[in-house]
Formats: sequence, structure tokens, C-alpha cells
Amino acid sequence: MRFILFMAISFSFSAVWAQPSSFGSAMLSESMISMAERSNFERTSTFQEVVNVIDALDASTDLMHREILVTTEEGRSVPIVVLANPAIDSPAAAQTSGKPVIYLQGNIHGGEVEGKEASLILMRDILYGDKKHLLDNQIIVFVPIYNADGNDDMAVDSRPNQEMSPMLAGQRHAHGYDLNRDGIALEAPESAALMERVILRWDPDLLVDLHTTNGTWHGYSLTYAPSYQTAGDGATSNYTADIMLPAIKESVKGKFNLDFSWYGGFDYRDWPPKELRTYHHAPRYLTNQMGLRNRMAILSETFSHDRFYKRVHAANVFIEEILEYTAVHGEEIRRINRAADERVAASGFGQEQGVEFEMRPLDEPLDLLSYKYIPYQKDNGETDFVRSSELVVIKGVLNYNRFEAAVTAKKPSAYVFSGRFEEVAQKLRQHGIPVEVLSRDRLILGEAYMVEEVKKQSFVQNNHRNSLLIGKFVSTERTFRTGDFYVPMNHRLANLAFYLLEPQADDGLAYWNFFDSALERELESGSRAELESLNPIEYPVFKVFP
Ligand SMILES: [Zn+2]
Repeated sequence: MRFILFMAISFSFSAVWAQPSSFGSAMLSESMISMAERSNFERTSTFQEVVNVIDALDASTDLMHREILVTTEEGRSVPIVVLANPAIDSPAAAQTSGKPVIYLQGNIHGGEVEGKEASLILMRDILYGDKKHLLDNQIIVFVPIYNADGNDDMAVDSRPNQEMSPMLAGQRHAHGYDLNRDGIALEAPESAALMERVILRWDPDLLVDLHTTNGTWHGYSLTYAPSYQTAGDGATSNYTADIMLPAIKESVKGKFNLDFSWYGGFDYRDWPPKELRTYHHAPRYLTNQMGLRNRMAILSETFSHDRFYKRVHAANVFIEEILEYTAVHGEEIRRINRAADERVAASGFGQEQGVEFEMRPLDEPLDLLSYKYIPYQKDNGETDFVRSSELVVIKGVLNYNRFEAAVTAKKPSAYVFSGRFEEVAQKLRQHGIPVEVLSRDRLILGEAYMVEEVKKQSFVQNNHRNSLLIGKFVSTERTFRTGDFYVPMNHRLANLAFYLLEPQADDGLAYWNFFDSALERELESGSRAELESLNPIEYPVFKVFP
């Protein structure tokens, strides 16, 4: 059975693979075929099986450069695969080439494996199949199996909405961390490595993060979202949402007759649904953070209820068509990103930027493709809904897929804070943000934030109970000392620095508890009378104006 299947797969591609190419006369070998394909999509690849396929692909090409992202807690050395023609072996060479760098990431959630399998197939098609032109104008960086430990911790019940297709799948978390909530704190070894070894080292123009949905019975093979614009420059997000994704959606429909659309969920108990609502804008989600870095990103979610082979196909088609698009429009994408860099670096201070956000509908409502829900009356008289197998189009659904500022704060010309917050300075630098050290004492004019209350979130994520600071700004002056930290804002990552350091930011360092102990210490040292009179406590980061 297995042998027949393998023959069928290799036969179907042999017309392409048998032809000698500019890459040499290398032929497909069985070891280049993923475990998903070989098992008739009953299984997904283990970490070792992914590495085995990459080794086999690497054996007959000189277009592959490999690095190690991180060695995980359980000892797996996670590969980074860089494909380029001509080959390159360093970010400097990528920079010199002038080509855009596109980064494709699979498996951030260990059980969501389609991007991992699709990446292996696409690498094979680029190196030995009919996709070699995708390297003419771009450099492609793959991390097919980002959460390697989560992937290999396989069980039958880890992905209930996939109905046992494949039979076993890995766990979402990496040793207690949801890696797609760790984009600010960067606490998991994988997150720290991703920032250092991919985002800062290769500076991708576009990041594609490959997931699988968790339940909603919409009617699409795949749903997507751009990097949501928050405090950032809007150009990269707008281009992704308004130009790039619609073009890719069209080409997928035209070539493969698959329906892709906006990411979101709806409440079937409100049938027919009137609104589709997306997830969240915060930069702890990696795709959203890319907007604050003036880079583009795409969130991809294959439809969990499709059979596994269909989901891998949808993911494969999506990344292929993304790369077909970037192959043609790479220069345009680089130009938009770099223009945003220049605008942000030169934008000065004083303008209001968002620190809290509200989900908003796009101007254009959506024709939503969905499985149909039929109301029925339960024995107790209540109405419930049963899902039918019929796909229907619901017209005029409000598409909540963008965000608007609900609370704003003024962008300063710099931030300054005491030298005792070494950990904060280190975290900013880990994000690529320049941090200077004062070489003399200085009296600085600006704004202090007086904290009246530290509210704690009701939920815990990645071992954090996040903090929300309630208070107000006062114009004042402060003396800072030699050795204190000074964060200028005249650089391309100023919007990210703003989000990280603003006291009210809904996903900044204060939210991730970096100042809790300082604020609590102040509270404890205050007299009981002071506490009862609700004397505010000063947030340790001072905003510099002008
Ligand atoms: Zn996911």
C-alpha cells in the first residue's frame, strides 16, 4: 500500500522532475518526500523526519544555506533554511543582493502542522520541481518547525477540531509558553532566538506565520490577516490588506478554485451572522509586531475541519502564491517598507498615537461563506442550532478586521529611566531598539506618569498576570544621573519603542510586569496614611519633551 502510494506521487511529478535543469540532473528521491505524503496523510512529520527531508534536499543542491535557530529544552536543533540563487551564506550577502527577504514560519503552535508539511513540499518544488523561478528575485528563509518540542509531543486528543486527521498531532505550547503570545516579553528560548537569529539578523520584508484554526465552521479553505496597524505607520499594513492579500486570494481562486478569505469567527446562535470578528491587534502576536517594525506580515490559518491532505494543499498553495506575488512585487514591497522606516525615523515628537485599540469593521461588508446552521427547538423549549453540510453565502456581513485607537498618548522625543532598570534596557536592546547611557547628570523637561492604580488581568498567559496602569501625565522636570538609560526616538523602530515604554500601552513592558516590583516597592515604602490618601506613584520611565 505504501509502495503504491509512493509510486503514484513520484509518477505525478516525474514529468517535471525527470528533466535536467539548471540545478543539475538531480532527481527526486524517496527521502525528499515528507512523512505526511508517504503515509497518505495519516501522519505528520516528527522533528527528525523534517530534518531528514531537509538533509535529502540539501544533498544535491548548492542553493541551500543552513543555520541553527535554537537548541530546544529537549535538545532539538531547530533548522533555518535559506534558499537563494545564487546561493548566499550571510545577511550581508542578502543585503548586497538587493533582493527582498521573505520569511516563512511553520508550527509556532506545535499541533498546527500544515505549514511545516507545506514548507517541505515547497522547498522541494523550488529546488527540484517547477518553482525554481521563485528564487530569481527573492531570498526565502524557512523555519518549517519552529516549536519542535511541541510538535513531537504528539497525542490523539491534542487537536479535537481536526477529527483525528492526522491521527496524532503535537501540543500548542513549548514548555508552558504559547510562542505566539511571547512577542513582547521574549521569554521562551525559541522567541529570543527568533528575534536574534531571524528578525534582527535577516530583517525579513515579509513574515508569514502558518497556523490552523481552532473551530469556527466557516466555508473557506484558509483564512488570513495582515499585520494589524496600531501605533505604527499604516503603509505596510494597508498594502498587505488592500493590495497584496486580495491579489493572492484572486490567483488562488483562479488557479486552484479554492476560497480564501479574512480570518475571523462568528456566533452561529445569532444566525444568520451579522458580523465576522478577528482576533487581536497586540504585538505579542508576531505578525502584528512586524507592523511596528515597518515590515509586512501575513497570518495564515488553514481550516481545521478539512481533512489533513486538503489543509496541507491549502497551506502549500498559499505560500506558493505569496511567493509568486513577492517574486513580481518584491521591489515595491521593499520600497514601501523602507519609506516607512524613513517616515518613522523623521517624524519628530508630539503627535498622538494609540495605546489602546478597538476592533472596527472595514468599509466594505463581506459575503461570508459558511456552513449553514438550522434552528431547532429543544425539549425544554429553548432554541438551538444544528450545523448542516450545505455551504451558503451570507451577504453584507460586517467584517471586523482592523483597529482604531481608543486611547492615545503623545510621542516624546526620548524616554529616560534609572540605571537600576537594567532588565528593561536589555529587553529593548533585544528588540533591536537603541539604548544610550547618560554620560553626565542632566535636568530633563518632560512628562511623568503618576500611577494611581495597578489593575491585574483576570487571566494568566505565559505565567503572567498582566498589569494595566491607571493614572495621568504631569508636565514636570527630573534630574537623571550618569549611567541612567536614554532611549532616543529618531530611528525606524520608534513606534515599537513607544508601544513597549508607554505606561498605558495595552501590550507594553508595563503590561508584561516589568515594573510591577518597582511600583510595589514604592507602595510598601509609603506610609499607611499616604496609601489611604491614594498618593500616586511615579512610573519609572520619564517622557522627554521637547
Ligand atoms: Zn495557531
